[in-house]
Amino acid sequence: MSLDIQLSDISRLDRIREVLAANDPRGQFTALGMQDLQIGDDVLDALAGITGHLLVAAGRSDDRTARVVMMADPVVILRGGQPLKPAVMARLDARFTTTAAILDDGHPVLHADEPILAEAAAAAQGADCIVSVGGGTITDIAKVAAERADVPVHIVIQTAASVDGYTDNFAVVLQNGVKKTLPSRWPDAVLTDTRTVADAPLVLNASGFGELLSMYSAPGDWFLSCEMGLDDTFAPVLIELLSRCGDGIAAWSGGIARGDHAACSRLATALALRGIVTGVGGTTASLSGMEHLFSHMLDMVAGEKGTATGLHGAQVGVGSVIRAAAWEEFCARMEEDGLDTARLFPGVESFEPRVRAAFSELDPSGRIGAECWSRYRTKLGLWHANRSRIEAAFANWVALRARHDALGLGSHAIAACLHRAGAATRFSDLEPLVDAELMRWVVANCQFMRERGSVADLLTLAGWWDEAGVARVLARVDAACAAAERGA
Ligand SMILES: [Zn+2]
Repeated sequence: MSLDIQLSDISRLDRIREVLAANDPRGQFTALGMQDLQIGDDVLDALAGITGHLLVAAGRSDDRTARVVMMADPVVILRGGQPLKPAVMARLDARFTTTAAILDDGHPVLHADEPILAEAAAAAQGADCIVSVGGGTITDIAKVAAERADVPVHIVIQTAASVDGYTDNFAVVLQNGVKKTLPSRWPDAVLTDTRTVADAPLVLNASGFGELLSMYSAPGDWFLSCEMGLDDTFAPVLIELLSRCGDGIAAWSGGIARGDHAACSRLATALALRGIVTGVGGTTASLSGMEHLFSHMLDMVAGEKGTATGLHGAQVGVGSVIRAAAWEEFCARMEEDGLDTARLFPGVESFEPRVRAAFSELDPSGRIGAECWSRYRTKLGLWHANRSRIEAAFANWVALRARHDALGLGSHAIAACLHRAGAATRFSDLEPLVDAELMRWVVANCQFMRERGSVADLLTLAGWWDEAGVARVLARVDAACAAAERGA
């Protein structure tokens, strides 16, 4: 497939709609509900005009009778040394009746949990428009607030290239301390102020770069799941669109570490396209495979222990190296040992004690173990139901591997990209610190957390995911990171 579209076409949303419509033979895509996407250093000048335009399109007036709520957290965000939020407020209040809703739960980083979601929805009650200013969390809170309070217009001002969730219709929220991705609404407009993004702390943009790299690991898991009958959403056009995100990455990734304006703009643009792919695909599967399981497991542990949660993208970047190494290990075992596919179908119930035991130390009440067992049993049921399809896929292993490998990069290449951008490559780079024991546990058990399939399931079912098998994967990760640090 060769789509007539470039990453620089990102703001041509009608063109993206056309390309998607022409390449959706099964009619599976969700309509791209965003009306405007602008990425540049002058987007704030356009804010009042875009707000007025969207208010009129929503059947509201665009004068002082329009009620606009600027939603943000208390963090001071600088743009060229000046505080950004008062500047946004002034621009809006010059034309509309504008109030500020500053959400503060006392945490250094706001938690998108029920009390804050309820507070945000209450603050938005009766508004014609929400303008959210900040990172991924405040954006998601505002999406939910707009839904709950029935606010017709939501405009996002993106201030860091930290995640890809600005430009999609999902919201990541906390339920009982555990992150969950829920369907939500599209923002009507996303304005990415690249000057603010370039001024954002390196750790945020480096985290966004880690998130970006799941495009080299997750599509492999998505492909395998669809080949094996665990998923049916695989859509080549989305992979083709995603491939645009990586254009020239070797050249610009080093600029992330230096806070270079052009590199940060490039990252923000690539993340915006990722968000669109996730939103229209109606699933996060194209970009969320085993590397995301690694991150979700760490978040779950933090939730249980009441400790701070690490940056999502930083964890995902580290997870991408692990996922790539896990696939390399699976391929090596296929060559060394060969695979009798009959081994891939052990009895479903035989896994129950293993899954429950895996989580018993983290949660002695057994609640998490029961939840994970329920999810894993569902996955195994589907796996067994697709036995003939799975056997057929493995009967042509060379072709399966080649098709998989065309979708991503190996562990060395991913680690090299992360290292160039100043992003975390190893678990020991993560903040808060992940120790070796936690790392081994997370990697060994992440496949039990979700119904979605990944290479970790193949390793598990092939019997190669014991202590020694996990250690072999982690040795590959170590070798890839060491080579990246040597510049090899
Ligand atoms: Zn992610």
